[in-house]
Amino acid sequence: MPTVCLRFRFEEHPKIRALMEACADIQRQAVAYALENGKTATYTIIKALYPSLRKEYPHLHSQLIQGAIRSGARVVHGFRNQQRKGKTQADRPEIRRPSVYLTKQAVKIEWDGELLTITIPVSPRDPEPIVLTFRPHHKYRRLLDEWKVGRAKMGEPTLTAHSLSIPLKFPDPTPYKPEGVIGIDSNEGNLTAFATSTGEIQEIDTSYVGKVNRDHLRREIKGTRGKQNPKAKKKIASKHRRIRQEKTENFWHHLALALIAWALGMRAALVLEDLKGMKERIGKGKSKRMRQRLLNFWSIMKFHRILEHKARFYGVPLIFVDPQNTSKTCPVCGRVGERLRGHVLACPCGARTNRHVAAAVNIARRGVEFLEGSDPRGRGRWATPVASPLASG
Ligand SMILES: [Zn+2]
Repeated sequence: MPTVCLRFRFEEHPKIRALMEACADIQRQAVAYALENGKTATYTIIKALYPSLRKEYPHLHSQLIQGAIRSGARVVHGFRNQQRKGKTQADRPEIRRPSVYLTKQAVKIEWDGELLTITIPVSPRDPEPIVLTFRPHHKYRRLLDEWKVGRAKMGEPTLTAHSLSIPLKFPDPTPYKPEGVIGIDSNEGNLTAFATSTGEIQEIDTSYVGKVNRDHLRREIKGTRGKQNPKAKKKIASKHRRIRQEKTENFWHHLALALIAWALGMRAALVLEDLKGMKERIGKGKSKRMRQRLLNFWSIMKFHRILEHKARFYGVPLIFVDPQNTSKTCPVCGRVGERLRGHVLACPCGARTNRHVAAAVNIARRGVEFLEGSDPRGRGRWATPVASPLASG
């Protein structure tokens, strides 16, 4: 679901200043509690802190206390992620810009087509609530109009001392009824796609990804060799990891867009192999070769995720099918053979096929079977969230 965040800035406001000071204190308490007790679940933190905070801030609206605790929990979650990725050396997060989530009960938002009025009662039944008014520019106006007529849902606004952010969630387009499929076989060095409606085969060289991965892994190993300082080691490693990720993600992103455009053009469904659970199979070996394969595997997983995300965004139906034996099954007779000679699949029936092409054709076929409802392996699934794109016409 595409989300757009509307951001409004305002000048110093004494009441908001006072409210945010209280919220900053609550956030700090939530962060301290979560770190000292090793808790992460937002609910646990609220349960532990709410009674004492209720006493400490008797006049504050309970929704604001909870909203501040929750935004404190959010800070902890963000900090833990940074720690896990090795992006921070600090032992606790800094709260630079205190913030509070405004639940439906703690805020009233009115839009009359010209003015956006935000009312925040600081205490329950506040006789003088905080009132903010904004005159949004035309781009925001259109979005607010859409929200007003129910085409978008409003998420929880976030208030800071000088800004208010309002997320609006727009529904994804409903995927069209597919008129054919595009089977996609994704490998370490190559991506092969087969379109059933035109019989077209596209082969795309993706060896760039493997090259970047290997290159930066080698540089990472070279750069950290002989270094004693673990901090310096970590820094070099994370630098190479970041470059690697940026380069490969960018590549996959463009490739995904090209495939989406192709599918949209012929109103086809995209079919991918379902790689869930494959990691365990590859990950068993710990050798250098296996490590590189795992790296490539992650990269292909990443590509699948990017493609899935884009398919959802553009309303392209996407199907995952059983990955087993896709490159070993003869596309002509359907026999599963082991006779692989290089990149050619030689079948006893006499058919000789490039194994990537065979895989793409087999993946497409499984997609068609799934669409027709026969799916003999029973492992096909829609990646698109709607119940069935077929039903929507
Ligand atoms: Zn055959």
